[in-house]
Amino acid sequence: MSHSGAFNPFDMARSQFDKIAESIGLDAGTRELLRSPMREYHFSIPVRMDDGQFKVFKGFRCQHNDARGPCKGGIRFHPQETVDTVRALSMWMTWKCAVVDIPLGGGKGGVICDPHNLSPREQEQICRGFVRQIAYDVGPVTDVPAPDVMTNGQHMLWMMDEYETIHRGRYPGWITGKPVGMGGSLGRTQATGYGAVYTLREALKGLKIDPKNTTGSVQGFGNVAQYCIELYHKLGGKVISVACWDQHDKASYAFRKKDGVDLGQLRSITDRFGGIDKVKAKEAGYEILPGDTWIEQDVDILFPAAMENQITGESVKKIGKKVKVVVEGANGPSTPEADAVLHERKIFLIPDFLCNAGGVTCSYFEQVQCNMNYFWDEAEVLSKLDHKMTSAFHAVRELAEKKKLYMRDAAYHIAIDRVASACRQRGWI
Ligand code: GLU
Repeated sequence: MSHSGAFNPFDMARSQFDKIAESIGLDAGTRELLRSPMREYHFSIPVRMDDGQFKVFKGFRCQHNDARGPCKGGIRFHPQETVDTVRALSMWMTWKCAVVDIPLGGGKGGVICDPHNLSPREQEQICRGFVRQIAYDVGPVTDVPAPDVMTNGQHMLWMMDEYETIHRGRYPGWITGKPVGMGGSLGRTQATGYGAVYTLREALKGLKIDPKNTTGSVQGFGNVAQYCIELYHKLGGKVISVACWDQHDKASYAFRKKDGVDLGQLRSITDRFGGIDKVKAKEAGYEILPGDTWIEQDVDILFPAAMENQITGESVKKIGKKVKVVVEGANGPSTPEADAVLHERKIFLIPDFLCNAGGVTCSYFEQVQCNMNYFWDEAEVLSKLDHKMTSAFHAVRELAEKKKLYMRDAAYHIAIDRVASACRQRGWI
């Protein structure tokens, strides 16, 4: 699940954008504005490590566009982080917030580091150091971070504390994905995975497929993947294979049980980064296969819910004959070459920035609740989330049907149109 050498997510995000900009006849000025982040910050974060040595970590924050509202998006901790990945992800955040029609723009941050090898204290220092570098360039009405790959509620809380210390006040609406009870929203942890399955439920209805008669294969076993599986199982579906990264072997494996994986049991043998214990899984009767076999499984539904660049021009050829739906829980999992094949094979795609928008939608609810200082119960949060995701899904699907568009292209049409129109109404272009 690592990046292959030549892959550049920013090139990919731009090529997706250019294609739609061309087809909707977007003017040259707007194209230029939307092809790059409006602002970006590169900085060094010095940290005294537990052994007393100083180490300097490289951090980025990209603010792609804030015409529709403050920039919004996660901060990732990843050893292979690059500024181009963060640029691409910030751009996808702009489209994500626009397609679900929440009043936020797009941003993303990243730190080149591997939390597997960092103590909690060292991670706290990176979080606080990150905020010290950008505390005056972000804020509740300018740029609002959240968790992402290998960051969680605790990281957000350390960041919030640092921000509030610098600004001498309480600003819980500045950062989302905080722990419940510390300004977090109930349902936020489940939101991305559940949101993806709300869209899957609607897609299956349209395809006249009963979820109870379907099986799935999942790539990833982090937060997004786990809650995808949880809700998909509640709908009656059966996941037969889960692939994840093994930090010890520096390789990924697929854990397969043909009569269905037991989510609770897998969770009980998984570390906090979504790595499943191979020995214990074997004892529990799982077949252990190479990680890239997740895509070849004889299933109806594929859930890429890990990293970008996983369904490529090459790997797409291995997708089994039975596959009918691809549910993109991850950001940027499929390349344009793979898209061409999925489209041609008439596999129904729920594109990433629509499919995984549940997380940011719930972040928006978290901000709203923080602003009111009044918190909803979980059922209320999830029902609002379901409503938002379901209506966004239907708007995209209706446009796709009406104009005979691939689902990703239809989602882009709606999102780009909303963002371009906000830029125009503000008189920017
Ligand atoms: N990191 C998540 C995403 O990629 C959530 C962002 C947010 O809540 O702001 O959508």
